[in-house]
Amino acid sequence: MRVHVDRAVCENHGQCVFAAPEVFAFDDDEVLRYDPSPGPGLDEAVTRAARVCPLRAITLDGGPE
Ligand code: SF4
Repeated sequence: MRVHVDRAVCENHGQCVFAAPEVFAFDDDEVLRYDPSPGPGLDEAVTRAARVCPLRAITLDGGPE
């Protein structure tokens, strides 16, 4: 699955980090980092992260939405 975060929309709320810490994290400067192509075993966690993002900043391709 491909993951994309619209940085123009994201306000670093961090819900995605709680939902899928294997994929999303904040770096030392509190900037969101993420794996744009996590393995299939993370589909569920990534889908959950996209759902909980309050700003709908996360879009997914190639997997369940
Ligand atoms: S939950 Fe959404 S707004 Fe918050 S850090 Fe993640 S992508 Fe950004």
